[in-house]
Amino acid sequence: MSLSHRRALLGAIVSLVAVLAAIALGVATDDGAPPPATTSSVVTLPLAPSAIADPGQPDAVTVPSQALEQAARATEDHRGSRSENPPGVSAGELDAGREQQEDLVQRDDLPNVTPLAAPSQRGCRSTFVRNASSRRGVKPRLFVVHYTVSANRPGWDDVNAIVGLFNTPSFAASSSYVIDDEAHCAYIVRESDKPWTQAGFNPVSISVEMIATGREGRLTSAAGMRRLGQVISDSTRRWGIPLQRGAVSGCTVTRAGIVDHRQLGSCGGGHVDISPYSLAPVIAAAKAARAGGTQPSARSVLTKAERTNVDELQKRRLIARRNGGWTKIAAFHNQRAEAAKAWLRARLKTIASGTTNHRPARRAYIAAVIG
Ligand SMILES: [Zn+2]
Repeated sequence: MSLSHRRALLGAIVSLVAVLAAIALGVATDDGAPPPATTSSVVTLPLAPSAIADPGQPDAVTVPSQALEQAARATEDHRGSRSENPPGVSAGELDAGREQQEDLVQRDDLPNVTPLAAPSQRGCRSTFVRNASSRRGVKPRLFVVHYTVSANRPGWDDVNAIVGLFNTPSFAASSSYVIDDEAHCAYIVRESDKPWTQAGFNPVSISVEMIATGREGRLTSAAGMRRLGQVISDSTRRWGIPLQRGAVSGCTVTRAGIVDHRQLGSCGGGHVDISPYSLAPVIAAAKAARAGGTQPSARSVLTKAERTNVDELQKRRLIARRNGGWTKIAAFHNQRAEAAKAWLRARLKTIASGTTNHRPARRAYIAAVIG
């Protein structure tokens, strides 16, 4: 896309945000509340009709307009992921994908698989958005991991900004889940419905958007990785998707499992997330969640030395997080965290897999903690 074209699109988003902010201001005025100052204005976005969701779920999400605007700029490339006819894909590939889906419709029996359509996921808040459509009887085969290209912000604002965008019909994109660094998780498109995140693969995919720019050095925090692992473990269990790396060819699924957006190529919309990050720790975290059931029981199989180093690393991270980052605290915290991480990395190499039930769980747990 040319720079001028891009600028025009960004302009359109900024206008959209301004309109939404104006609507929010209007609502606030109707309520008799004084209109907020421009710099701290808040946008309230009504969510999908609550008939499809839990009675207790919120029917609107509130986002600082600044957070929404920043997320809109960063996430621009995801706009239009609803289209299942992405550029750069041959008619033959598209046909093959559609043929596979038609074949799956004949064999799948959706109502028997998910009578409740999984309206809740432990660890996640359910807030269902407007941008979703029917799978038309196709059961998902892939769990697709993405990142938003938007930055983490304290609290729910970062997640809510994405929820707001994915609730905007003109944005024409959405995902099943959104998770941030603090492990806040929003479940926003029911797994039995189609999220609009990976173009030609939407009918067969469940998706998660991790809040990350691609410049953090890791996809998510240890806590975020544990949440992600839990969601993937639960979700793939519900749909009988194997906990393994998946594969595709053109627009067809050749191996059901966990994939990243990049792996889906042009038919998936031609995005490169989650590059430069690896999918291996994500799959390890999902296996750890599955093996342990809960993290504490997976942790209980660690050796004493492993536990000491895991605790050390997590303690220093907590200190850094509570004080505003690694640059704000004494250097020895960083040194001790690095030392513990190096020890755990070396340890991973020495733990052979498969000879006892405990070892895969230990390896997965340690890999998830390293992040
Ligand atoms: Zn993506």
